[in-house]
Amino acid sequence: MKVPIKNSHSLSMKQLQGLLFLSLMILSSISVSAKKLNVLIVTGGHGFDRKSFLEMFDSFKNISYRELEQPEANLQLGTIDPKTFDVVVFYDMPKTISEAEKANYFKLLKMGKGLVFLHHSLCSYQQWADYKILVGGKYHEEKDSPQTSTYQHDVDFTVKIADSGNPVTKGIADFEIHDEVYGNTEVLPGVTPLITTEHPQSSKIIGWTHQKENSRIVYIQPGHDKNAYFNPNYQKLVRQAIGYVAEKR
Ligand SMILES: [Zn+2]
Repeated sequence: MKVPIKNSHSLSMKQLQGLLFLSLMILSSISVSAKKLNVLIVTGGHGFDRKSFLEMFDSFKNISYRELEQPEANLQLGTIDPKTFDVVVFYDMPKTISEAEKANYFKLLKMGKGLVFLHHSLCSYQQWADYKILVGGKYHEEKDSPQTSTYQHDVDFTVKIADSGNPVTKGIADFEIHDEVYGNTEVLPGVTPLITTEHPQSSKIIGWTHQKENSRIVYIQPGHDKNAYFNPNYQKLVRQAIGYVAEKR
């Protein structure tokens, strides 16, 4: 009787070891799936307080990021290994783009990469008609037109949550911010508004989401300087926008 019991005991030890190994494998695969989101942050074409801006992203525990600067960024978007990033955050404002570089943007949509556009990225590529369809709106720089957009620095205003059920705005109540407002901007009718303001010098809809091909896209108008970067509600908006667009449609 002793021998089989011993055998069965040693077998169960092996099973235990096997179970332990399996558990470690499962745990490591969970930690891989819960790994940080990889974000490309595209800057350039407009001045900004880089140190403070990147400090905001440093505070986001769920992401790691790499900054690409224009004009090289548009070329890099076509050559960078798609497996190395989940989301692209645009905080740039270039004026020109080549046809080949435009194609790189459409490749991002095909791949279902999440795109977040912030603040002055609404003003980029005034001559590229498809850009506003990508972003979901446009700041019009042309002069003396009924469509001419405006800006005003150092404004205190209330950001109102238009859709509290969206993951981007989840858990955020209406909040005050000291920032730049844009007026008379174009917002395409197909977008879902996320945030609005009643400030008379601002367009009403100041943040939205929509989808293009396989990508989720979010635009957030506030974000001129550290008054926004260091505003906890603004930080939460940007952080949640990155998390939301990272999930494929
Ligand atoms: Zn600005």
